[in-house]
Amino acid sequence: TVPSKRKIKLNDLTDQKCLYLQTKQLSGCSIEEERKKLPVFNCRDRILKELETNDTLLIMGETGSGKTTQIPQFLLYSAHARNGVIAVTQPRRVAAITIAKRVAQELSTTVGDIVGYTVRFEDMTSHKTRIRFLTDGVLLREAICDRLLRKYSIIMLDEAHERTVNTDVLLGIVKEAQHKRCIQKLPGLKLIITSATMDIDHFGKYLNVRGMYLEGRTHSVRVLNTKEHQADYMHAVLVTVFEVHRTTPINHDILIFLTGKEEIEVLAQQIRQLAKINSVGSSDVRVFTLYSQLAQGKQLECFLPVPLNTRKIVIATNIAETSITIPGIRCVIDCGFVKEKSYSPTSGLDILQTVRISKAQAWQRSGRAGRDAPGTCYRTYTKEEMLSFENSAEPEILRANLTSTTLQLLALGINIQDFNLLDSPNVKCISNAYTTLENLGAIKSAKLPNITSLGRLMSQFPLDPKYSKLLLSAPTFGCMEEMLSLVAVLSTENIYVNPPDKMELATLAHAKFKSKYGDHLTLLNIYKCFEKTEKTKLWCHDNFLNIRNLIYARNVRCQLLEISTKLGLSFNSCGENLDSVRKCLITGLFGNIAVLQKDGEYLTITGRHRAKIHPSSVLHGSYKPKCVIFAEMVLTGRNFLRQVVEINSEWVEDVVPFIKDLSYINIEK
Ligand code: ADP
Ligand code: MG
Repeated sequence: TVPSKRKIKLNDLTDQKCLYLQTKQLSGCSIEEERKKLPVFNCRDRILKELETNDTLLIMGETGSGKTTQIPQFLLYSAHARNGVIAVTQPRRVAAITIAKRVAQELSTTVGDIVGYTVRFEDMTSHKTRIRFLTDGVLLREAICDRLLRKYSIIMLDEAHERTVNTDVLLGIVKEAQHKRCIQKLPGLKLIITSATMDIDHFGKYLNVRGMYLEGRTHSVRVLNTKEHQADYMHAVLVTVFEVHRTTPINHDILIFLTGKEEIEVLAQQIRQLAKINSVGSSDVRVFTLYSQLAQGKQLECFLPVPLNTRKIVIATNIAETSITIPGIRCVIDCGFVKEKSYSPTSGLDILQTVRISKAQAWQRSGRAGRDAPGTCYRTYTKEEMLSFENSAEPEILRANLTSTTLQLLALGINIQDFNLLDSPNVKCISNAYTTLENLGAIKSAKLPNITSLGRLMSQFPLDPKYSKLLLSAPTFGCMEEMLSLVAVLSTENIYVNPPDKMELATLAHAKFKSKYGDHLTLLNIYKCFEKTEKTKLWCHDNFLNIRNLIYARNVRCQLLEISTKLGLSFNSCGENLDSVRKCLITGLFGNIAVLQKDGEYLTITGRHRAKIHPSSVLHGSYKPKCVIFAEMVLTGRNFLRQVVEINSEWVEDVVPFIKDLSYINIEK
């Protein structure tokens, strides 16, 4: 062949590195061999046999033993699976997606073929799908349309120990479907509950079944606590990372538990920078992040092998506690905190706050270091501090806002008070939920919880009832098109991009869209411009906006539009008169009103919390409106209202007369 005359630039060669890149082998085995080594594999025949004679199985096993990825594959060839699809629920959407991808890979197929997943606003299944991973929320919604869940032959409620409200409620719903299908002589429904090794007796008693244990295979983990209390755990974690990096073999990968996206990204950045400056010989680190809002393509990256002489560092939320197992981890660093959404029945508000983990969670986290070989766990808290941790996390049903669940159950004809649940919710939480539903017009009266036709319509949207209400009242306010866009954007992750090194440019770019009334109208401006733009990629780049999230919002909008059309809602637009949008917001978000106080802080009318406007809001630091609606209250030492929009306090009485005069609140000091 004639040698090419083309001049080769150095840049062109970088790709070729891949040819020689040596990756660290986690083990020399193929996926098939890996699978056979998992503890669950020895129990394959037993599980299948038990399933022939029992309708319900309770299977407990160490995290990483193969429950989630393997059991559905065993079931695939069981006789029973011929009667319908196998559903596997997950409390978290990232888990549903990543696990579906893994199982598809193990079965040498692609997602959407025999293996698929369905999470809110995203369906990757087809008529060929036999194993369907879905969030517990999605399955619960499906139950509203078909209470007998006829599509499914086997339902596996996975990660039951997480005790999410949805999984707890599903336990009851699936048991009932099982019973009814039996009476109606329909093909049977098998139920498998899988859990990490905790709180077994409780499940066993409730379900009236004996549990089945999978033999674990874990190695010893040396646990180290700090000598003293660490006021700044982020710093303590950072110090620990480099200490471990300096003193342990390079093939010992590190898993770090932090509480949320912001912290994780900050630490990742710090580690990358410091590692560059202080690289230890020829060794290197690769930092990966894992949290629920992470872009889909990035979610699986932490599973990929890294080059030789490289240490993998994964920084994750509690998702890596039990839902997802990353092979190769020999060291865990645990900050001892978790971010939790909780609802205070006395104040009636949902609050996002960082709280201590439980002892069970601390134990789970440390266990992640001993999957493949003996490991070490560093806890950035003292032994004494740990004494004050709860034994296990409180089930979500005891601390969650039950408005949405109560409505969903009512749509199923069930009054939550009469429903046999694993743990009964707080009476005050139930009565608050009924009051909210009454105020939303979803039930006739809190005393007599009969679902109204409006309530039934509300239950058709995969949204919190507050937001379904916004869509249902928008036609009356003449702003349906706008509300569809706004609710879609609010259902999406942050659409702003704020690179630390280009903060000023980003702020300048975002300022173009700013509405003086606040965040909701600003988001709406952005979405409208996005829809009008042709070269969206360039436009998003120039304006520091996240194109992926905006496309996601467009997709969500389409789905909400589809449901609205089916429900016969009329479509209208308010054009530039966005006052109607702000008025309409009050119909659903009346619980999230706050009033300006003399000292410049806000007082929420529900719960009477004092709070400031969050620095991320367009209203931060500028003119302070008298009365606002906020999307969320965040507790981080101080209270902050996130996503805020100004409303006119006179409107409140017009739109939601049951909220008494707001002026009294101004007197408070
Ligand atoms: P369990 O549900 O019992 O906690 P899983 O079925 O989730 O266990 O995982 C079993 C094993 O499969 C894990 O220990 C891990 O080694 C491997 N695994 C799971 N998902 C992936 C993935 N996406 N890439 C590589 N390995 C994976
Ligand atoms: Mg699992």
